[in-house]
Amino acid sequence: MRPLSRRDFMQGMSGLLALPLLRSQEPETVLYNGTFTTLDQAQPQAQSVAISGGRFVAVGSNAEVLLLAGARTQKVDLAFKSVLPGFNDAHSHPVASGVEHLHKVACDLDSIEKIQASLHARAQQTPPGEWVLGFLYDDGKTPRPLNRHDLDQAVPDRPVLVQHRGGHTAFVNSRALHLAQVNDQTPDPAGGRFEHDAEGHLTGFVGDAAAKVFLRLIPDKNTREDYRQGAALISKLFTSKGVTSACDADASPEDVQGYQDARDAGELRMRLYCHISAASLDHFMAAGIHTGFGDEWVRIGGVKQYADGSISERTAWLSQPYIGIPNNYVGLQLTSREQLYETGRKAHAAGWQLATHANGDLAIDRILGVYEQIQKELPKKDPRFRIEHCTLLTDTLIQRMRALQVIPAPFSCYIYFHGDVMHFYGQERTQHMFPMRSFLDAGLRPTDSSDYTASPSDPMMWLQSQLTRTDMKGNVWGANQKITLQEAIRCGTVNGAYAAFEEDLKGSIQPGQLADLVVLAQDPFKKDPSELLTIQVERTMVGGRWKYES
Ligand SMILES: [Zn+2]
Repeated sequence: MRPLSRRDFMQGMSGLLALPLLRSQEPETVLYNGTFTTLDQAQPQAQSVAISGGRFVAVGSNAEVLLLAGARTQKVDLAFKSVLPGFNDAHSHPVASGVEHLHKVACDLDSIEKIQASLHARAQQTPPGEWVLGFLYDDGKTPRPLNRHDLDQAVPDRPVLVQHRGGHTAFVNSRALHLAQVNDQTPDPAGGRFEHDAEGHLTGFVGDAAAKVFLRLIPDKNTREDYRQGAALISKLFTSKGVTSACDADASPEDVQGYQDARDAGELRMRLYCHISAASLDHFMAAGIHTGFGDEWVRIGGVKQYADGSISERTAWLSQPYIGIPNNYVGLQLTSREQLYETGRKAHAAGWQLATHANGDLAIDRILGVYEQIQKELPKKDPRFRIEHCTLLTDTLIQRMRALQVIPAPFSCYIYFHGDVMHFYGQERTQHMFPMRSFLDAGLRPTDSSDYTASPSDPMMWLQSQLTRTDMKGNVWGANQKITLQEAIRCGTVNGAYAAFEEDLKGSIQPGQLADLVVLAQDPFKKDPSELLTIQVERTMVGGRWKYES
């Protein structure tokens, strides 16, 4: 990985970088006439790359790299298109959502009537007594939220549960309430809420632990084959948007197996770093496995715990009440400090990275306290503690994160995609939410992420949201947290790899790194930031092979 020559033949390009040992061999592929943004500080721009064995072996000018090509080298003319390293969706739920795509009704529709029609059609094909399930619903994208009466109208005779795309709340019909023996008088479970209307009747909206009351009744009929198919399907969807690596933020043994089965079948198009759900920790620990086990396609990540609820569904645990929600409502705590500490310490001692879901400032304060205590008791050289989402910060919390070099894995396109819920937080508070500028200024390494299904796994939408802090209706939220295009791309590539201890393997276009890249139809550096999401992905390469071509 050392430079062989350093002629400045174009701005920002320092010369050919090549792996010395491989230089004499004929590369399998040469991509030339590209406009590469490499994210490699030694050579930020390039025109051409040579690839062998799934890795970049040389990066430089057309003239230099084409010289390495032999008779059997496949040469691809990129027609001066913009090329970036493949993106890393550092927090998402790929196989779980892939399996949902296989079996549930997609409710990402803009009217209640359309959702009713889709659920009704599915009910017609569903045996009597069985559940009709929906997902991807977002109450901010329909004129008003769904309620039990809408669902009763569409499906009167079978239980219905429609999950919010945020994953923490759901909407159920009367049949489902009856089956779960939940009525107007049923008290809220700890960490959950059955919503009531002004007259005290259940609306059908159920949050966190209250949603679990229903989820428990739904038989899990997913087979090993479903997980394989789900993993394959979702990797096709993600690579079509330029995502070449993802972190599964809450994987079960079945999920990990699904990725592995898809990979064995040659159907897995992207790489996975799998956080293991706390409930499955003992299972993996008993097998002697900890963070880092696996290979560059499927690897075991950290252990996942939850400190609070979600931003899009208004269940994050905040120090100040939500705006416009009665009774000084401040969200939900999901796990006690004792539990977070106990599981965290056990996992940390056994070689696991800790990755904890915390959105609100009180949840972040709690988990930071746990991390500080664990690191003091059992110091580790490079623990790379992660806070998943890490949404609402204060200056003090950021200073504490800096002291421990905690990695924030924030939502990347919430300002754009979930602008409709930002009024619950307000202008003043959004200046401290998803605070990319503050993270970077403090020397932290935030990643990019979608939390799919919570928001689209679409890097161009992430970039637009972070550069403009503007929602889809044109409202600006927290303009002080804007970052540059170069910074945003780095968060979505290099920083994603770092958060998974894989920075030596991927994240940039330089000799020795895995040949993961995306070819765009237009150059994002020449585009108005408010139009970035219109840029189409033309091709996505993972490990030297095209995994998506438009
Ligand atoms: Zn998540």
